[in-house]
Amino acid sequence: MAQVMSQPLSDRINNLPISQTLAMAAKARELREQGKDIISLSLGEPDFNTPDFIKDAAIQAINDNYNSYTPVNGYGELREAICRKFKRDNNLDYNINQIVVSTGAKQSIANVAMVLLNPGDEVILPAPYWVSYSAITTLAEATYVEIPTSIETDFKITPEQLQAAITPRTKMIFFNSPNNPSGTVYTEAEYRALAEVLENHPGIYVLSDEIYEHINYGEPNFSFAAIESMYERTITVNGVAKAFAMTGWRIGYIGAAEWIAKACNKMQGQITSGANCIAQRATITALDAPVEKIQYMVDEFHKRRDLVLELLGNIEGIKTNVAQGAFYVFPDVSFYFGKTIDGQRVENASDFAMLLLEKANVATVTGDAFGAPNCIRISYAASQEELKEAIRRIAELLS
Ligand code: GLU
Repeated sequence: MAQVMSQPLSDRINNLPISQTLAMAAKARELREQGKDIISLSLGEPDFNTPDFIKDAAIQAINDNYNSYTPVNGYGELREAICRKFKRDNNLDYNINQIVVSTGAKQSIANVAMVLLNPGDEVILPAPYWVSYSAITTLAEATYVEIPTSIETDFKITPEQLQAAITPRTKMIFFNSPNNPSGTVYTEAEYRALAEVLENHPGIYVLSDEIYEHINYGEPNFSFAAIESMYERTITVNGVAKAFAMTGWRIGYIGAAEWIAKACNKMQGQITSGANCIAQRATITALDAPVEKIQYMVDEFHKRRDLVLELLGNIEGIKTNVAQGAFYVFPDVSFYFGKTIDGQRVENASDFAMLLLEKANVATVTGDAFGAPNCIRISYAASQEELKEAIRRIAELLS
């Protein structure tokens, strides 16, 4: 009889939750391959192609023989382009030694967590938050403290809540506006009120994830580091995936104090080295282009947001807020908890998301993964036809 091999994996990986966004996308793909007519509204990924002017720059880079290892923190020309972008879009002054380019903003965030957090440190996560913030915090052996919010307050935290969450162990807080998964956008005034609280706690660092900055239909994006008292201790994270439809190209970056950038460079030098050479060259072109060049995608996302809110608004028990940015809506579906629908009992958001997948063939992501157990996330980075059909199916199931 074959012997069962032991699989002595590390505690680190055994304790790591899987990414629910990626898991749901994989599940949708798998069911499709089995012949099921699944509409996937699970992954936050633009359904547009990368614009031609960016693709041309990549082709040029290949022909120009950009094929060698890149500097760990990114090509100097790219870091210069990132500095220009930060000045133009965010009124932030960084020099190239404050920039580190990584293989996606996810790596940028992981670098920051690894270089700033020690075991026992606390990280504040305003909920809902993107699934990987909590997982990366755990990987860095710190613990996270959630600040709960609800749809009634547009999923925003207040200065009082922030103050109450701070302890002597607090080392970092994540801000993310426009927010994944809620679409919430903080105003400058709201950010300044939160900064006032942090001014009394000089040991707390802020990771401001601004990856959705251009996909915003509300107040203009405001960068946390633009608050003078916060500049030195804010790490601004961004990338090209969402705005330029370049998810697979994997380019993210940070702007931060030089000592933090230097530490991230050192960390990355032992793990992946510099990001992909072709993608870096293409990113220079993307960032130097006027933002008007990508407005057609933003306009389309805006139309889809309106469509999705209108259609969901006709379904009993689905409560939505007006998401101002990103490409997600995050309805509260707790009305259905404790009910049986089409023979299937729904106790929580995970059951609800599973119900939609199994009975309506629509993939979404449970709010549990984002620290918001009453909600589900619907990504509207899909065509209007798909969105209409998906919501028609959901409405039919719930009626
Ligand atoms: N950030 C996107 C999402 O939330 C892509 C998947 C991921 O990396 O989590 O769906």
